[in-house]
This record gives sequence, structure tokens and C-alpha cells, in this order.
Amino acid sequence: MPNQAPTLPREDPTPASAGAEPAIRLRGLRKEFGPVRAVDGVDLDIPAGEFFSMLGPSGSGKTTVLRLIAGFELPTGGTIELDGREVSRLPPFDRDVNTVFQDYALFPHMSVLQNVEYGLRVKRVPKGPRRERALDALRSVHLSDHAERKPSQLSGGQRQRVALARALVNRPKVLLLDEPLGALDLKLRLAMQTELKALQREVGITFIFVTHDQDEALTMSDRIAVFNEGRIEQVGTPVEVYEHPASAFVAGFVGTSNLISGHAAEAVIGRPGVFSIRPEKIRVDGDLSQPAGDGETSATGTLTNVVYAGATMRYEVSLDAGGQLAVLQQNTEGRRNASAGTTGRDEPFRTDTRVRLSWRHEHNVRVPDQR
Ligand code: ADP
Ligand code: MG
Repeated sequence: MPNQAPTLPREDPTPASAGAEPAIRLRGLRKEFGPVRAVDGVDLDIPAGEFFSMLGPSGSGKTTVLRLIAGFELPTGGTIELDGREVSRLPPFDRDVNTVFQDYALFPHMSVLQNVEYGLRVKRVPKGPRRERALDALRSVHLSDHAERKPSQLSGGQRQRVALARALVNRPKVLLLDEPLGALDLKLRLAMQTELKALQREVGITFIFVTHDQDEALTMSDRIAVFNEGRIEQVGTPVEVYEHPASAFVAGFVGTSNLISGHAAEAVIGRPGVFSIRPEKIRVDGDLSQPAGDGETSATGTLTNVVYAGATMRYEVSLDAGGQLAVLQQNTEGRRNASAGTTGRDEPFRTDTRVRLSWRHEHNVRVPDQR
């Protein structure tokens, strides 16, 4: 894949400094389907040019928010502004957004080029400029060589790129992507994550990317909104959301749920409350006589589960003070750790081993109690 792809000029390029109004502003947005509250009061500002992800479990309202922004659904309450203009009740074609769906929705009887041109044909863009723009869009997704093929003659990843080109050709201010990589296998998905992110930087269009995959959201996004039951629990950069989860839900959904609370929190951390500790921050030590280091929190416990996962070891530890913690360690020790859990002499960490866990105080992240 070439590194350099042609840029796709916007119809009305606006300097970054002109971004007084966010590309998208949602205020008190609500949507009910009969008794189901799909979207339950969402407030959100998304600046122009951002790669913004909506992350949350299935049924948390992500797709509905996207469909409300696109105009495929009308809100029960609240407002939607695009570029400072209220569009809450406008039909889809009056909004400067385009959607890429998970199933691609390509026309099977049309060539790749015809698929990409389709939106412009509907808008009655004359043939010359239409073709030029379509070829431009195909170049930006590295598919110029496949313009005459039918969708059935493409791989899944290539079809996904046609769907992208078809949306980009309209040069929307905002591109809405609903789990666009969900149908691809893992390797291709990882490759497309990198490509999609690079493409977004090139074209400078605001991307609103829906996913239930935390890794995808963490690796691709400028900012993430974490959804739960029709509401946003937290908005922040990947670092903010991962290192400083604002709720127990976020701590559990973005990463492994690793909470200490109640008596265990008082005994181990010395304060009441609910604390999130990320598994990779914790060190396991088989020597219980070693005291905790300066600035470290420490707890003793028993290994209840040892999992060899190639690059990493995963431990589950039942704390003497109560509660369970998961620990994730890189397999820097190779054979020694690799044989843990089986027989042999030089494996300190087997199930039922007594261990000391330690981690730096700053990795005790206080999260508000469950609402
Ligand atoms: P997500 O994309 O996060 O999985 P959705 O926005 O699709 O969630 O759905 C949110 C909730 O709204 C779910 O409970 C879903 O069943 C419900 N819902 C979505 N669309 C409809 C619809 N057209 N009719 C009735 N209920 C719907
Ligand atoms: Mg969905």
C-alpha cells in the first residue's frame, strides 16, 4: 500500500482557526421507540476535523445517535446542530453528512466506479466532473485499479473501501461510520484501522465512528464517548478514558474491570471508596517478605488462575483483604513464565501460590460509586 494518496479537496475548505462552531452539537438529545428509551439525554460537542468514536455495548444507543445525526430518525426531544445550523427536523439530503454502513450496501450490478459515481448522478453532477471526482475518491482509498470490477469480484476489505469512496465522493463535512470494520476478520480489521485513520487525516473530514470494540476506539480516536443505556458516561481522549475512568462502568468496559471497594479498599489503599487499578500496572512477586516500595500500594493474596497468552501472562489473584484482582504481565521471562501452571521446578507462579502484588499509588484511580 503506497504511503502517499492524493488528497481529496473539500468543496469549501475552512481554515482550522475558523472553527468557532463545532461540526456537531447535540443538546438534550432523546429518542424513544414506544417504551424503549434508546437515547436518553445526550449532550455533545464535536469539533471539525476530529476522529470521534462512540463506544459502548450492544443496545447502548450508538446507532440511534448516528441515525439521528444523519436524519434517518427524528428525535423525541433535544436538538442537533451541524456547523452551527439546527437540522433536527431536516430530511437526510438537507444535511451535509454521509453514512458508511457495516454491510456496505453496494449495488451488485454496478461496477466499482458506477457505485462511487451514483451519489453524484443522483445530484445531476455532469459526467466529466462526476467521473473525475469518483476516480479521485477511488484513488484516495487505493482502488483506482479496480474501477471496472463488480463488487462480487472484490475482497471484503476492498468492498469496505468502495463504500468509503462512495461516501467521500460527496465531500461531506461529516462522515458517519457505523461499525464499518465489523464484518472483516481480525488481521484485515487491524490493517483497515490504520488505513482509515490515515485517510481521515488526509481528507480532514470529521469522522464519527461507532464501535463496540474498545481497542478499536482506543487506537483510532482523537476522543471517545462511552455510551451506556442511552447516555454518555464519559467523553475524553483515549488516555483520559483508559487511565482515568469516570465511572465503574467505564473502568469495566474500557479495559478489564479491576475494582477494589469496601473493606478491601480500606485495608489495602487505606481509604474507603471504589478504586480502579489497571491490570498491567500491577507487579506480581513470589517473595512475600519483601515490603512495598516507596510510593507503592501493596497487597497479599493467592493466585486463583494463571493463563499463558503468548506475549502476556494473565493472573487472577484472590486478595487476603477480600476481592479479586487481575494482573497482566509481559512475558519477558520466556520459558520460566511460559511453564507456569504446569509441572517443573523453576516456576514460581502456579495456581494456589501465595504472592504479593504491588503498584504505584497513582494507579489507584478513584471512581464514583455505581449510580
Ligand atoms: P447500539 O447501536 O448501541 O447497539 P441501538 O441504537 O441500535 O444500540 O439501540 C438502542 C436501543 O434502541 C436498543 O434497545 C434497541 O433495541 C432499540 N431500538 C433501536 N432501533 C429501534 C427501532 N427502530 N424500534 C424499536 N427499538 C429500537
Ligand atoms: Mg449499533
